[in-house]
Amino acid sequence: MNLVHHALGSFGTNVYVLADDETKEAMIVDPGADCDRLANDMEQAGLSLKYIVATHGHGDHVGAVATVKNRLGGLFVAHRGDADQIANPSPWIVEMMPGFSDPPEIDIFIEDGEVLNLGALEVQALHTPGHTPGSICYLHKDVVFTGDTLFYGTIGRYDLPGGDGELEVASIKTHLLTLPPSTKVLPGHGARTTIDQEARTNPHLS
Ligand SMILES: [Zn+2]
Ligand SMILES: [Zn+2]
Repeated sequence: MNLVHHALGSFGTNVYVLADDETKEAMIVDPGADCDRLANDMEQAGLSLKYIVATHGHGDHVGAVATVKNRLGGLFVAHRGDADQIANPSPWIVEMMPGFSDPPEIDIFIEDGEVLNLGALEVQALHTPGHTPGSICYLHKDVVFTGDTLFYGTIGRYDLPGGDGELEVASIKTHLLTLPPSTKVLPGHGARTTIDQEARTNPHLS
């Protein structure tokens, strides 16, 4: 497994690339902004982009899906619950994001429990509504990409349209805190953490 991470754009959104070493099939998680260098690196590494996945529909996570897809191909994957936000991005986010491009049509509507394959790698979708109705976390072995659902020491805001704090906490408790404690949490913003760390110390989850 090959995992690359960059924090990009005015919101410092964490963008991740996960690739299978054998087949070079790759997926990119949350291309929010200026992915030119990342795309260069992927081309140089000979990666073939199979999936462009959005953990949710906010502009800072999907603002570069169109440019990445035009350049490298790949299928755009998101949950139906965020299709409206993806088609109609919040003006205030777009305003704060130079280089934002309207996302393309969603190619694959992913559901809870579905698995994406990159060569022999399996990546499972966990539907975790709360930050947005269509928030998805992606689990590969001992790594989970949590988007804006779970962060180091906090959880995603739930006061934006479609947000629901009780549902968010419930999603985290049922889908994330049930993972092995050593699971590494790679969030959509800020530092990485672990399930154990958040289960013990996150004030929103006690
Ligand atoms: Zn968000
Ligand atoms: Zn975000």
